[in-house]
Amino acid sequence: MTTRPPLATEKLSMLIGGRPAAAQSGDFFESFDPFTGKAWALVPRAGVADVDAAVQAAAAAFRGEWRTMTPSARGQIMTRFADLVAEEAENLAVLESRDNGKLINEMRMQCKYIPQWFRFFGGLADKIEGRVIPIDKPGVFNYTRREPLGVVAAITPWNSPLMLATWKLAPALAAGNTIVWKPSEFSSVSALFFGRLFEKAGFPKGVVNIVTGFGHEIGDRLVTHPDVAKVAFTGGDATGRRVYQAAAGGLKKVTLELGGKSANIVFADAKMEAAIPGLVSGIFAATGQTCIAGSRALVQRSVYDQVTEKLVAFARTAKIGDPLDPETQVGPITTLPQRAKVLDYISIANGEGAAQLLGGKIPEDTSIADGWFVEPTIFGNVKSSMRIAQEEVFGPVLSIIPFDDEDEAVAIANDTIYGLAAGMWTQNLGRAMRLPERLEAGMVWVNMYRATSPLSPFGGYKQSGIGRENGQTAIYEYLQEKSIWIDAGNSIPAPFVQR
Ligand code: NAD
Repeated sequence: MTTRPPLATEKLSMLIGGRPAAAQSGDFFESFDPFTGKAWALVPRAGVADVDAAVQAAAAAFRGEWRTMTPSARGQIMTRFADLVAEEAENLAVLESRDNGKLINEMRMQCKYIPQWFRFFGGLADKIEGRVIPIDKPGVFNYTRREPLGVVAAITPWNSPLMLATWKLAPALAAGNTIVWKPSEFSSVSALFFGRLFEKAGFPKGVVNIVTGFGHEIGDRLVTHPDVAKVAFTGGDATGRRVYQAAAGGLKKVTLELGGKSANIVFADAKMEAAIPGLVSGIFAATGQTCIAGSRALVQRSVYDQVTEKLVAFARTAKIGDPLDPETQVGPITTLPQRAKVLDYISIANGEGAAQLLGGKIPEDTSIADGWFVEPTIFGNVKSSMRIAQEEVFGPVLSIIPFDDEDEAVAIANDTIYGLAAGMWTQNLGRAMRLPERLEAGMVWVNMYRATSPLSPFGGYKQSGIGRENGQTAIYEYLQEKSIWIDAGNSIPAPFVQR
């Protein structure tokens, strides 16, 4: 077992108005290490008054020097921030792995990649251009400006804490907004360390504020606060619906990145040496706790037995263990209630008549008994109508569904309320060109899976979300366009007629 840093007794601070802040109540809550099952950090338990203070600080910062700073200067601060995050990447990765139990390899990859978002969007800050419109009225000059919205509330889930926050913070800041960020109560620790870097980079006080606490205690206040202009949310679809409804009261702008039930489709002509690890990486790499998990493997019937056998054999060898050990391939589930939910879905699938081919229970290995593990689990001969094929499990559970031809593959892939991602494995160029446009998903990967980048849009079709993160156009989610009219002809208005 790797050496684990001692239990942190340091009481961590939030970030409000550029200063470290405790909750006004003085309350803290424990954050748990999913591998040891023990509390390892103390996080401030914000209340409504803390949310109000953070929004007030963000609103003041929006009216302050941040507003008048040139976009190039904004971009330079973001680049400095990227450098600081790069220096801290290893520490941040360890904090994340301890706090949410995800593999150190995955958190390292994410934390090293995060600076690219701040560089990419920092670089866009001074490329936000308006338009000159050849207006159809003589003597009138009409142009547009793209302006920030104001205070953005960023609400993030437990599974990729800093990365998913970065997908909001980087475009929102580049566009000139200010932020109040509430990380998940299950993985707040890395956020509070990340927060220490903003002022060092030169962000004016209050531009970024971080409040930690429980969604049911402070989420609603943050979403409905009259000074919050936009809510950028990533999380489960039930919470997303609640956030959307609450934001509607104030007619706030909203982006939602929600759940998925993504299909990873293997055709008989696929290169199997790539497809099999591709299916495994789609579901087991993050213990299934990723919104883009390829939780439905659709396999062409003519190779169904062959693929299933290889897949089960490959997944059986996955090394379950300490997420801080770089050799580990499957870590624990982040929370105890989530583990209970995953085990519940396994018994539902068995009850529905799916064939359990692998896993299905808590591992028997006593050396990891304190951790919140579930074995990598595979169900075969799953029908698309079964709950295990329709509902997001968010755990290491794969359903294999057979299909006969392209049309049936598309029909099954699209037979869900979700539309986040899809993968397909084929050596047939025509099929690789033809199929992606028939799949109802925001991202389609061909002969690869689970790739993301600051350069390429990310988001859901159907009930997987509203709006897009990443890619150049994501910055428009944080801007509004103003149309400015100037009479350059010196004309006298006719008072009772529309011009
Ligand atoms: P969750 O919905 O339980 O929580 C997400 C965040 O919402 C947390 O910070 C939580 O405190 C907050 N919250 C809870 N109640 C709230 C309320 N009433 N008002 C405002 N905020 C509230 O999600 P989770 O369980 O932490 O994360 C897992 C889910 O996130 C999965 O469904 C997964 O698919 C989804 N996810 C989506 C993406 C994506 O980009 N599409 C990425 C990662 C995770």
